[in-house]
Formats: sequence, C-alpha cells, structure tokens
Amino acid sequence: MNASRRTGPSLPPSPGAVHLECSSTGRTSPSERLAGLSEAGRPLLVRYDLDALKGRFTPASLAGRPPTLWRYAEVLPVRDPLRRITLGEGFTPLIDSPRLARSMGVRRLWIKDEGQNPTGSFKDRGLCIAVSRAWELGAKELAIPSAGNAASASAAYGAAAGLPVHVVLPRDVPAPILAEIGALGASVQLLDGVISDCGKVVRRNCDEHGWWDLSTLKEPYRVEGKKTMGYELFEQMGRLPDAVVYPTGGGTGLIGMWKAFAEMEQLGWIGPERPKMFAVQAEGCAPMVRAWEEGEEEARAWTDPATYASGLRVPGAVGDFLILRALRESEGGAVAVSDQDMARWVEAIGAATGVFAAPEGGATAAAVPKLRDMGLLGGGEEVLLFNTGSGLKYVGMEPEGT
Ligand SMILES: *Cc1c(COP(=O)(O)O)cnc(C)c1O
Repeated sequence: MNASRRTGPSLPPSPGAVHLECSSTGRTSPSERLAGLSEAGRPLLVRYDLDALKGRFTPASLAGRPPTLWRYAEVLPVRDPLRRITLGEGFTPLIDSPRLARSMGVRRLWIKDEGQNPTGSFKDRGLCIAVSRAWELGAKELAIPSAGNAASASAAYGAAAGLPVHVVLPRDVPAPILAEIGALGASVQLLDGVISDCGKVVRRNCDEHGWWDLSTLKEPYRVEGKKTMGYELFEQMGRLPDAVVYPTGGGTGLIGMWKAFAEMEQLGWIGPERPKMFAVQAEGCAPMVRAWEEGEEEARAWTDPATYASGLRVPGAVGDFLILRALRESEGGAVAVSDQDMARWVEAIGAATGVFAAPEGGATAAAVPKLRDMGLLGGGEEVLLFNTGSGLKYVGMEPEGT
C-alpha cells in the first residue's frame, strides 16, 4: 500500500485501544478482534489510555504532521502504520464567513467544508478508519447500506485496501454518486426503499457470506473517524465555538465530536465547557427533532421519510439515545427545516462564501435564523456550521415538498 507507506512512518505509533465499552451498560469487551454491537445490542465505543497520553499528546505535538485525520494517530484505533489507508481525508478548511454571519445576525460564523474530502463528503472520515481497522483485524469483504455518500466512501477505501465492497442503496440515489461508486469498483444493489430497508439486506448478506457490516454505529470505528472533527475544530480555532450546527442522519458525527470533547478534557486540552450542539433534520424526516421536542430519551422511527438531502433520509438511528443525550447535556437542541429552505440557503452560502454546499449544508444555514427566533442562539455567539458534502454530488436532485 503505497499511500500508507507515504504517510505512516512520519507519524508516531498508535498505542491503540485498551478495550471497547457498551454505550448503554458500560460493560467492557476486547478491542483486538472484529466486534459489531455490544451484548446488549447497543453501539460499542472505543476507549484509550488517555492518562498515559496526557502531556505527551498535546496540540503542540501535532505541528508538522500530515494534513489528514491520521495526525490524531494516538487517539485512533489502528495500530499498524501499514494499515493506515489514506486518500487525503480530513483537515478540511474552516472558512470564516463574515457576510453570512451578518445576514444571520450572529457575531461570527464559520463553515467547516467537509465537501473537500476525497469522495466529496465527511463519510470519508468514518470509513477511512472503519475500513483500515477492519482490514487490520482480518475482514476479507465489506458491505454497507447507504443513502449514497457512505457507499462512495466505502468503495474508495475498500479499493485502496484491496478489499471487495458490496453496497446496497435506495434506487433514487443521486446519479453522480452512483457513477462514482461504479468507477470505484464496488458491487451495487439498488432497492425500492430507504436506508433502513437496505440495512436489512446487508445484514442478511453478511450473515450468509461472512462479509463485514460497516453500518452506522453497528461497528465501533466509524465514530472514531468522525470524532476527528472535534479535535480538528479545536486545533484549527485554538478554542471551541459557542455552537455547532450539524445536519443529523445517523448522528455519527455528533456522537463522535461529543466523544472527542470528553477525550480532550481528559487529555487536559480543554475544561468542562462545551459548545451547544444543534441537530438539524429535514421536515420530511425528523425523528430526532420530534423526540427532542417531546423530551424523549429515544426516538421513534419516522414513517415515509422524504427529503432530497439523502444524508438526512434516515428514519431511525441506533445511536438515538446518544444523540439526544449530547443535545441535552450541551444545552443545545434540534430543529427541522424544509427542502425549499435548504435549497435557498445552498445558494445563499454559495454567493456569500464561494462554497458549493450539499443540501445538508444548506440545512445548517437554514437552521440558524430559526434557532435565533426560538431563542436558542444569541446574536453574540460564534457559530460553526458543518457543510458535510459537496453540492456536486446532488446535481439533478430536486427539493421535495413545497
Ligand atoms: C451521512 C450524511 C449526513 C448525516 O451524517 P450522520 O453523521 O450520519 O448524522 C449529513 N450530510 C451528508 C452529506 C451525509 O452524507
């Protein structure tokens, strides 16, 4: 693997995980073999010996490291430097957007442009780590249900590792994504349905053929890749923003950043303060918003999900309780926006900043005036929006509803 040879040796070794921990019961299990959900059927989280890293793994120690997410090697699970697959993922630009800030009535606003990842979305972060780690632990073939971007990312990292990838997608996946997956050599199955229907087919195929299931939060390592967004915000800003606005489907990024903040506190990088975390969903598929408004600890599945923001067309999430907990503990919240608003804000972001955002990125901007009206966001606050993908991946898709 040329790429890993290029990046690997310039980084310190990874001590790796000490164990996995059930996110619900806290029960620990071994980290050095392939693991899906916990015995309780809940997501597993990766734990490291952070006390041993304290004072050695510091923001200053990152200087001069490669501009990819592997710069946080000490808090990533992959031990063998030759299994660190890289296509240049992570360390995306943080774009200061004063005109957008003024038009929204907030003091300062940045866009974290995840559209600049190798396959054009932040799914690359999670799947870079999940595929590298599955490869390290001996997986031979990979499978994933996806609304689109996760399939592109799996196909890319599978190809880089030399592992076959099987993806199952809804039939109405955006055409550019389908073309990309085809070129990356994955085998594709299209279904009439949404991502949860695809997930059932993947599960069956994995049981039958011994493939490794990379579904959101059904293995512990995609969260580890996504958590690097939390480390990166701190490294790039030198602090954390007052509020993070995140387009939420399965919630891996939100859960990952929340985990990163806890790790950074244990490492002595930050204190107990946290940004307010806001989850944005589409009006046509808003299970987390409904659960948050009803004060629930878990979310009921949404029936007939409809939105052109394919990353948000996720009717139910295995990590629902972790998402809702992060929203509550951070004193943030959840809000739904219409497809029409997303599309309008994609244009507003483009004209004001030069970033061609995905509809999911448009959704985060559309959420800000609503959060201001709801009194959840003050005019004096510093806000960070996640543009989670490139608008180029959605060319030809039209907003749903009116
Ligand atoms: C998958 C996806 C999301 C949702 O991400 P989660 O971490 O699963 O909540 C948002 N935007 C885009 C572009 C996506 O591909």
